[in-house]
Amino acid sequence: MTSTDPKNFVQDLPTPEPETPCRPRQPYRFSTLCATVENPSQKDQYGSSSVPIYQTATFKGVNGQYDYTRSGNPTRSHLEHHLAKISSATHAFVVSSGMAALDTILRMLKPGDEVIAGDDLYGGTNRILAYLKTHGGVTVHHVDTTKPDTLLPYINPEKTAMVLLESPTNPLLKIVDLARIAADIKERAPNAVIVVDNTMMSPYLQRPLEHGADIVYDSATKYLSGHHDLMAGVITCNRDDLAKQMGFIVNAAGNALTPFDCFLLLRGSKTLAIRMDRQQATSMLVAQMLDRLGFKVHYPGLAEHPNRDVHERIADGYGAVLSFTTGDKALSERIVGATRLWGISVSFGCVNSLISMPCVMSHASIDPATRAARGLPEDLIRLCVGIEDPADLLDDLERALLEAGAITLTAGGDSHQRYIRTIPSEGTAISRAVQKLALNQSAGYTTECNEDREWFVSAPGKVILFGEHAVVHGVTAVAASVDLRCYGVTTPRHDGKVSVHFIDIDGFRQEWEVDDLPWDAVTPVRVGDFHPDTLDHKLVDAITTRALSPEVLAKPSARQACIAFLYMYMIMAHGGNRPSFNFSARATLPVGAGLGSSASFSACAATALLLLYSRIQLPAQPAPTTDGHVHISHEGRRAIPPVLAEEVNRWAFVSEKILHGNPSGVDNSVAVFGGALSYTRPGFGRKAGMLPIQGFKSLKFLLTDSRVPRNTKQLVAGVAALKEQEPEFVNGLLNAIQHISDEAQRALADPQLSRQTLLSALSALIDENHGYLVKLGVSHPSLEDIRSKTATPPYALSTKLTGAGGGGCAVTLVPDDLSESNLRELMAALSTDSFVPYLTSVGGSGLGILSPYNQPQLLATPPETPREGEAGAGTVELLRDTFAGKATADLSAWADSLGRWLFV
Ligand code: PLP
Repeated sequence: MTSTDPKNFVQDLPTPEPETPCRPRQPYRFSTLCATVENPSQKDQYGSSSVPIYQTATFKGVNGQYDYTRSGNPTRSHLEHHLAKISSATHAFVVSSGMAALDTILRMLKPGDEVIAGDDLYGGTNRILAYLKTHGGVTVHHVDTTKPDTLLPYINPEKTAMVLLESPTNPLLKIVDLARIAADIKERAPNAVIVVDNTMMSPYLQRPLEHGADIVYDSATKYLSGHHDLMAGVITCNRDDLAKQMGFIVNAAGNALTPFDCFLLLRGSKTLAIRMDRQQATSMLVAQMLDRLGFKVHYPGLAEHPNRDVHERIADGYGAVLSFTTGDKALSERIVGATRLWGISVSFGCVNSLISMPCVMSHASIDPATRAARGLPEDLIRLCVGIEDPADLLDDLERALLEAGAITLTAGGDSHQRYIRTIPSEGTAISRAVQKLALNQSAGYTTECNEDREWFVSAPGKVILFGEHAVVHGVTAVAASVDLRCYGVTTPRHDGKVSVHFIDIDGFRQEWEVDDLPWDAVTPVRVGDFHPDTLDHKLVDAITTRALSPEVLAKPSARQACIAFLYMYMIMAHGGNRPSFNFSARATLPVGAGLGSSASFSACAATALLLLYSRIQLPAQPAPTTDGHVHISHEGRRAIPPVLAEEVNRWAFVSEKILHGNPSGVDNSVAVFGGALSYTRPGFGRKAGMLPIQGFKSLKFLLTDSRVPRNTKQLVAGVAALKEQEPEFVNGLLNAIQHISDEAQRALADPQLSRQTLLSALSALIDENHGYLVKLGVSHPSLEDIRSKTATPPYALSTKLTGAGGGGCAVTLVPDDLSESNLRELMAALSTDSFVPYLTSVGGSGLGILSPYNQPQLLATPPETPREGEAGAGTVELLRDTFAGKATADLSAWADSLGRWLFV
């Protein structure tokens, strides 16, 4: 192609009349061929200048040219002759739709045949190929046809029966070298039939039969008819053998186009060239405008479009479909909704301009995993340009972009560039984060939250107050949150990497190139869907074997945390949305001590990812009052709605499955919902499940880590063995523990009970429960040492072992009247024996998210890999760095001081 104006091209197409010897004729140009519907072998008896509609099923007589319209009809013959002429073909068939055309072609295949097809084909094409695979015994290889060499390994001279291509693809306008592929196939598998779907171009702009294709088909529903008033498909070819087979199928299957639709299609096709000229000229203007504004635009007419040279070699124009991304699905939806002239509709090729979002419309039938694998962005907008006045189309689009907030007026811009993109593609992370925040705040809600901002989240650990070990045998356990928490911070990166920093696991750091992760193993969980009950072990294995280095594999806790994090990161990804960010986590509770650190980590990681992917949205910012202040009611501390918490809890449980194997769900529920709950395992004839203990009063406990590693599995197995040997004895203990749990629940939920009575009742239950645990053989000398230290006057406190194993921890109830000095003294005494005591309160808040509404300056840590100048972003606090550097003892107070936390 030497010029961008196809009107100037001399088409090498058949001339309707033979050349005269005295004045050689030039071949007719395409638009002349389109407008002249002449069929010398079918002269009309009255000389009608428009082909009549032979609206009849049957024809009288025998041995006439026509007998039955399924087999042939004069209106159809005219149309087929006309379409063959403008397609450089000797044969044409018109059928009831584009898919009927493909179906006719595919019926030539036999079981055992192999097809090589593009991996970015029209959705309906994929659907019918998948059907053939499962029902027709045909093998289909989907390959990236934009790289011709990728086809070579799949060519089998005996088996490859068909190659199915499309160029440009829809909606990303990827270019395929049809000529090169046709040559490669003919050389290696001469019997293979090369089929091209030419719908996006129409015969005006591309005639693949001239470039080695054997069969070309078009959805004539699009450009060939041009008015969206009929469905039709056209098949053209030059090979008599193929034409014979397809003619047979059309007659046998009865899918030929009806006479009336043939008439409409013939009428529409006369204006194909003139419509296309206008449509693609305007398309270029639209593409250039969007490109100038800073959007990522897919249009082969733009200089940077990949394989543009290939397209120019094969085609005569760039077509009238283009697409662009905005960086934000909600923004795209607003743009689409704000246009007036551009109709929201699927399909293309009409004289009216259309706008759509493929992922929610034409390509919604392709599952999200495949969409993501093909890199089809969820925020992609497709434009199908019509014949309206270009100035009106540009104006309407510009207004929609403005109204949706995608562009903004520039101060002092020239007449060509009055607007700029609101969220510049090359802006700094800080400016983008601030712009996003501003956008959210002006909108009053937080649907825009994603990787461009920081999120600070936290979740509590848990302590089992009563019923550990016995719970395995059907006894009810009572668990409560502790105010020792895990914290997580996400910080944007802009280098295509995702990374983790687990500060408490020896400062473990790891980063991955997002694109190198094993995405082919992912079956995403759609927004709104639940993760299946069982883990996707294929993905776990792929992460373990392909994303983790031997050094990571050698560190069990870091390894499992990495797998859980990557698993959720990948399975939550949708629509090509793969945020690049860092997740740092640390805890004020001991890791691996049986205090639910893994569940609180799971809740933090799940919350951070759900926020990054906008899968959960925080409630609207409280509206400012007339004095301009936001008044926060005391309800503010429990501002995370239960539906959000439930979504987090489901994902935290998924992560727990990776970290634990077979979790009960208690730890993650406490980490998310806080407070206290009772839990009974199913299968023991008792009412099973988890129940919150309403009205639980916050209690002070001393949690002491004995630092004696305990093997949970071994201890649980020991109790089971004892039960086997001495069932009566053990069952008696279990019943007694059930009684304690029941008593504790009653006391904790009783509003009438005085605090003093409650504390002494709990003390007695603690001592009693511990006694039974000793009898079950799960205590150990260090724990007994802690017990006796805390029981000694002047403290006289009740202590019991907590949890089933873990780090071997003890809980000591701290009465309200224990003096500060006694408490300090006791803690010091425990510490000198190298135990680690933590003073904690039990039964407090669950999941927390630092409110994004009141501290925008905290959301400005430069990315991990700051671009020049970004690090000096003024006086802003570097949240991520301070987070990593704070002393553990100061972490909670510092986090609280940052702003208002929203809690479940
Ligand atoms: N091929 C392409 C590229 C298409 O876009 C379509 C329809 O959108 C078809 C084939 C199927 O055509 P029809 O809807 O006429 O069956």
